[in-house]
Amino acid sequence: MDHFHYIDGHLHAEQVPLKEIAARVGTPCYVYSRATLERHWRAFDRAFGEHPHRICYSVKANGNLAVLGVLARLGSGFDIVSGGELRRVLKAGGAAANTVFSGVGKQDWEIRDALKAGIACFNIESEQELRRISAIAERLRRVAAVSVRLNPDVDANTHPYISTGLRTNKFGLGDARALAVYKLARDDANIRVSGVACHIGSQLTELGPYRDALSRVLEFIDRLEAAGIRIDHLDFGGGLGVRYHAETPPSPAEYVAAVMKQVGARAPRLPVTIEPGRAIAGNAGILLTRILCLKRGVERSHFCVVDAGMNDLIRPALYQARQEIIEVERHAGAGVRCYDVVGPVCESGDFFGKARRLSVREADLLAVRTAGAYGAVMASNYNARPRPAEVMVDGGVFHIVRKRETLGALYRGESVLPPEPPANRP
Ligand SMILES: *Cc1c(COP(=O)(O)O)cnc(C)c1O
Repeated sequence: MDHFHYIDGHLHAEQVPLKEIAARVGTPCYVYSRATLERHWRAFDRAFGEHPHRICYSVKANGNLAVLGVLARLGSGFDIVSGGELRRVLKAGGAAANTVFSGVGKQDWEIRDALKAGIACFNIESEQELRRISAIAERLRRVAAVSVRLNPDVDANTHPYISTGLRTNKFGLGDARALAVYKLARDDANIRVSGVACHIGSQLTELGPYRDALSRVLEFIDRLEAAGIRIDHLDFGGGLGVRYHAETPPSPAEYVAAVMKQVGARAPRLPVTIEPGRAIAGNAGILLTRILCLKRGVERSHFCVVDAGMNDLIRPALYQARQEIIEVERHAGAGVRCYDVVGPVCESGDFFGKARRLSVREADLLAVRTAGAYGAVMASNYNARPRPAEVMVDGGVFHIVRKRETLGALYRGESVLPPEPPANRP
């Protein structure tokens, strides 16, 4: 469920016509709906009922300060994967004490910043990382809370680039090595064992892999207890899928219910953390783009060339992702035709959709749906294209929450070489 809908043939975000946003802000432009973000976050929160839990929104899905700020005001925690994301969380008013730090490679300065800020927990992925965190904690005279990320070796049945819980992936540790790291952690005065972590991938559309992973994690927790190691929470990661096209992922309520059923059977009082990103932000955003031209291909194909490119939204090119593309204004008259919707970037991978039935004219606006997660955060300046503006709609008003990048910003920090001394000139 989201808050993008047609009113009298005009696509709106909540109560604001997208046409109005395009006129005021220009295109391409990301548009987010506050009500949708809040609805999705609350769906997870409510599903836990009275069970002690923490919802740590995964910042990497969409780290815009306005998005983080809206969630922080709901009381959300955050899952970060870099020192830059920590900075964003703090800037947006998020609480370090509700923030967990994931990722397979953390740099010293990132660990230092996180310890100083007082984050809730490091989700660590190797023995080397434990030693590093311990050394830095000792220097700062802090005690670092850690969970070890288990690799449960389950197939998430998702795109290989976003599958993370297989033995062949770089993520996490197998049971035996994880147990060894826990023993080191237990005996380390600079470390406090806090939880067990797991994250098996992204855009999961079925519960089976979650169930398999969770039973491994719960078995592992039993082994820890047998070794005299107590934990204070289980972090089950994120990854719940969304509907881009024809997928039918479980709802947040179904997902949480499934998790809690298994947890309830083995460890009924254990606090649970989850780290959803896409399921909160994905359907809370669209990419608004204007048609530059309708062009006949050499073959039978018709191309709809839009002003957004793969640099703005890379999911179709990177993950072969299918995202819905819809008209912002439905007008009678323009005939329906099958188009390849493509961007201006000099790559044949620069497309948003193939063979899409659209009723459009030149200069019309289109919306690429489900662009709120892994959209703006992955935007680049490829082809020297300024990154798009971002807008947050809130009921009947909208706010520009990131200005369109300026041309000058494209080469900020760059320089040409100093002038050549005369002798070196040819
Ligand atoms: C990416 C990531 C998430 C969020 O994944 P979604 O599919 O966006 O829910 C959560 N936890 C970790 C450790 C991640 O790397």
